[in-house]
Amino acid sequence: MNILVINAGSSSLKYQLMNPDTGDVTAKGLCERIGLDGRLTHKVPATGKKVEKDIPMPTHKEAIEAVMAILVDPVDGVIKSVDEIDAVGHRVLHGGDKFVASCLIDDACKQAIRDCIPLGPLHNPANLMGIEACEKAMPGKPQVAVFDTAFHMTMPPKAYRYAIPTKWYTEEHLRRYGFHGTSHRYVSARAAAMLGKPIEELKLISCHLGNGSSLSAVKDGKCQDTSMGLSPLAGVPMGTRSGDIDACVVQFIMNKYGMTADECLTMLNKKSGVLALSNGVSSDFRDLEAGAAKGDEACRLALDKFCYEVRKYIGAYAAALGGLDCLVFTAGVGENGPANRAAICAGLEFLGVKLDPERNNVRGREVRISTDDSKVQVWVIPTNEELMIAQDTAELVKAAQ
Ligand code: ADP
Repeated sequence: MNILVINAGSSSLKYQLMNPDTGDVTAKGLCERIGLDGRLTHKVPATGKKVEKDIPMPTHKEAIEAVMAILVDPVDGVIKSVDEIDAVGHRVLHGGDKFVASCLIDDACKQAIRDCIPLGPLHNPANLMGIEACEKAMPGKPQVAVFDTAFHMTMPPKAYRYAIPTKWYTEEHLRRYGFHGTSHRYVSARAAAMLGKPIEELKLISCHLGNGSSLSAVKDGKCQDTSMGLSPLAGVPMGTRSGDIDACVVQFIMNKYGMTADECLTMLNKKSGVLALSNGVSSDFRDLEAGAAKGDEACRLALDKFCYEVRKYIGAYAAALGGLDCLVFTAGVGENGPANRAAICAGLEFLGVKLDPERNNVRGREVRISTDDSKVQVWVIPTNEELMIAQDTAELVKAAQ
């Protein structure tokens, strides 16, 4: 089967054409600057070919048309006709409490995604535009929505409820949802496979540490708790997001600087996190490591704070799970940052976490980085959200046939 995986953002759209059984990627690429001018970068992994083109993309519709055109292009393409695409899988940010799993897209599903716009105001409209652009470009092609929130829907109320007035939950659906669910689901399943144990017998914590970061506590293959909340702003400090703060900070800043709530939230989403702690040096952990190595105290603090908060969540989740069998690191920093992994795990020996410094000196590979006698196995597992999306899509489409 050929599944086209689409990840539509507000001004960008990533795509991969892949085989859900083997995980082989036939082609992948990125449309950028949608709504401004439009730029397509297309890659064919088998040949190493890379094509870059300026193509007008006033909306997502033109972006999808550009993707279709290059996929079937006689010179740069990888398929003869759009008929060779069996189905399309879309990453959708917010499924609210309506979606506990991926679903075939129909009018009701689209309406439900629309209903979740107040919860995901930046992403859900873009996700819908991607879906509708594909409907126009490939009428009748089966499409599937895979939600970032779905994996977390198994959390018990004590984990997902906020201690705020009940009406805000029952009427406004304000609760913890959690994100990166597709990644947490993928690495949890891989970790179980690596440990050679049924996932139903494992207590694990997955640490998705990238530009956006979240941790999940997983027991019996089900998410028990996760660090992001109603939105991806909550949890550990991130590249530009503050992570958990006292809500009074918002009131204080609004009053002091005459900011609106939206302006304040923009600061917390885009100008905070390690970028702010490093006094604006960077949101990129590589730059922070370089700065800290040169003696920049603010960069050092940014890294220390990040690792400290991740470690605290690991401790909290080990307590929530009542033990720990496996700790998994994934995403940009989790896969490529040996120093950060070591700093996070330092002091977790009491939980039975023992890193092997040599094994930990690894980037971007699936490997166990704990010692042989570590009670808790620690793994680096590169995430593959696209593969999960392709597999869910293939499964749902086959089941519907
Ligand atoms: P996103 O959330 O945007 O998908 P990624 O998962 O790609 O983010 O993670 C981006 C982060 O990963 C950046 O902060 C980057 O510094 C970090 N990263 C990527 N490669 C390395 C590396 N070799 N060493 C340390 N950090 C890295």
